[in-house]
Amino acid sequence: MSAPTIETSTTTPATAGPREGAFGHAVALACRECGHRTELGPHYACPECFGPLEVAYEFPAVTREEIEAGPSNIWRYKALLPVPDDIEQSPNTEPGFTRLLPAKNLAAELGLDRLWVKDDSTNPTNSFKDRVVACALSAARELDAKVFACPSTGNLANAVAAAGARAGMKTVVFIPSNLEHAKQVNSAVYTDSLVAVDGNYDDVNKLASEIAGEEDGWAFVNVNVRPYYAEGSKTLGYEIAEQLGWRLPDQVVIPVASGSQLTKVDKAFQELITLGLVEDKPYRIYGAQAEGCSPVSAAYKAKVDAIRPVKPDTIAKSLAIGNPADGIYVLDICRRTGGAVEDVTDDQVREGILLLARTEGVFTETAGGTTVAVLRKLVETGQLDTSLETVVINTGMGLKTLDAVADRVGPAATIAPSYDAFTATGIA
Ligand SMILES: *Cc1c(COP(=O)(O)O)cnc(C)c1O
Ligand SMILES: [Zn+2]
Repeated sequence: MSAPTIETSTTTPATAGPREGAFGHAVALACRECGHRTELGPHYACPECFGPLEVAYEFPAVTREEIEAGPSNIWRYKALLPVPDDIEQSPNTEPGFTRLLPAKNLAAELGLDRLWVKDDSTNPTNSFKDRVVACALSAARELDAKVFACPSTGNLANAVAAAGARAGMKTVVFIPSNLEHAKQVNSAVYTDSLVAVDGNYDDVNKLASEIAGEEDGWAFVNVNVRPYYAEGSKTLGYEIAEQLGWRLPDQVVIPVASGSQLTKVDKAFQELITLGLVEDKPYRIYGAQAEGCSPVSAAYKAKVDAIRPVKPDTIAKSLAIGNPADGIYVLDICRRTGGAVEDVTDDQVREGILLLARTEGVFTETAGGTTVAVLRKLVETGQLDTSLETVVINTGMGLKTLDAVADRVGPAATIAPSYDAFTATGIA
């Protein structure tokens, strides 16, 4: 099998390749399995062993002050990302630097001493995917791609469609046809080319790889530019540390679909330590899945290293990846840091959504409901230390998955417009 790349048509003369500084301080793509180094370009699989490629850097000296003087979005960390120094000149959705909320009420409810919610629901298209897409867009541009595309569980399609519109690029997004209505509309408003595929995400992903191999000049954000795309998730880790006053938290709970985000939060913490921007200290990383799609949690509990793919069946559609590309690395990180991977039922996901809404005024989607419910389960089963400082990541927005809670909440009463009718409800 040869890895599809973004190749321009063979009838046009070969170009000189990406411009100097196109990928900032990145110096190569390194294989996560065998360490083999490949030059920066539209590659994602190791030519030696087909292992996943990851961006490797030679970082300059970076200070807290330089970062703090940057913009209130992910580009404050541009020196640590595979993007050019003039990235702020190119149109994108400018995601990031979202709120880190002290969550006293939820902490009290769960019996935790210190809890924070990193609230990524306020990104431009209301999920953390805007972060990864901003980095993928930069790579697509620098590699001279003609089409900006993705296979998606929903939120990624929203983010790609919006960013592509701002960039003025042709944008094509592929989703499973059974996706939530709101997530379909939230893509279709930005692009004419939303393609609904009769199949699950893993089928859609396979189709995308096939198209990437056949068509010239297509940048599939999470396929052939995945190494650059994935780096965007590091900004969640950077922000958490900076917003805590340049400190690492003790425990972080993160939802797992492909597992990319979780591995990049760990990479971010490690980089901050290496760069001397935070003090080295132990931290635990926990992964959250829904029971109906819990291949990583199942492997964690069975104490095995291999992930057995599953057919997803859960309301947490944004987490419904049955064959997670970074699952084995999630296992590694959660075990190495002393964390865990847990899963919860769809009913617990619904309860998690309502719990966060009613304690902190944050309306999350099913992915966040999963994460909050897993946080609760980790406390109840003694897997999480309630005396340690904990961060739970809310990756998405409840307005996109209204159906999940629509039959659990609604008017307490429907009354005539009279004071008597109101007093009769007993609400006063
Ligand atoms: C995609 C997504 C995730 C999971 O991200 P991975 O990096 O694939 O593990 C979590 N939450 C939401 C809301 C998402 O859209
Ligand atoms: Zn390799």
